[in-house]
Amino acid sequence: MIRPINISPLNTSQTLEYKCPYCKKFGILNLTNIIININNEGNVQEDLTGYTCPHCGNDLFEENNK
Ligand SMILES: [Zn+2]
Repeated sequence: MIRPINISPLNTSQTLEYKCPYCKKFGILNLTNIIININNEGNVQEDLTGYTCPHCGNDLFEENNK
C-alpha cells in the first residue's frame, strides 16, 4: 500500500505513506528529488519502481504496478 499525504492544491505531493507488502511495516517517505502527481482518485501517477522498504529491502510499490 502506498498513499500520498499532504497533497497540495495542485494535486502533487512529496510525502508518501507506505505499508510494505512483504514485512507489513508502515512508514513515511519524504521525497526530495521528485514531485509526485496525484490523480483525482488520490492515487500516485508516477512510476515509483525502485523504492525499497527500509526494513526488509523489498520493492514497496509492487502492488501498485499490478
Ligand atoms: Zn518491508
